[in-house]
Amino acid sequence: MKKEALKKFKRVFEMQRRNILFNDRIVREDFSVCSDDRFDEVDQAATDIEQSMRMRLCNREILYLKKVEEALRRIEEGTFGECDECGEEIERRRLEARPTATLCVSCKEEQERREILTAAGRQHKSLGEAFSKKLA
Ligand SMILES: [Zn+2]
Repeated sequence: MKKEALKKFKRVFEMQRRNILFNDRIVREDFSVCSDDRFDEVDQAATDIEQSMRMRLCNREILYLKKVEEALRRIEEGTFGECDECGEEIERRRLEARPTATLCVSCKEEQERREILTAAGRQHKSLGEAFSKKLA
């Protein structure tokens, strides 16, 4: 990949990382407000639900942050844009749409096909079991 393109991706990732970290800080500040309010027992259940919702959002962001940091590491190492499976360059259009992609289109499709096959296999098996129970 050309240096300019790499720089562009690096800028995008650094911006995303900043955004995630900034949001995370806000969430933490909200948490401390919540724990100060704990004496109000009527609102406790609602607060718990709200907190777990925030936690989920937070975890998803942490997961994405890990991907972003992995991508930044790849840029540093010079392996960014290479497919994890076959080592070929990941299509530029795919990277533009999903900058954290680590598989090229054909490897990704292959992976999805495998997943569908395994899921279908499981379904067939349980269908077969139900069928044989009916017959028995
Ligand atoms: Zn590939």
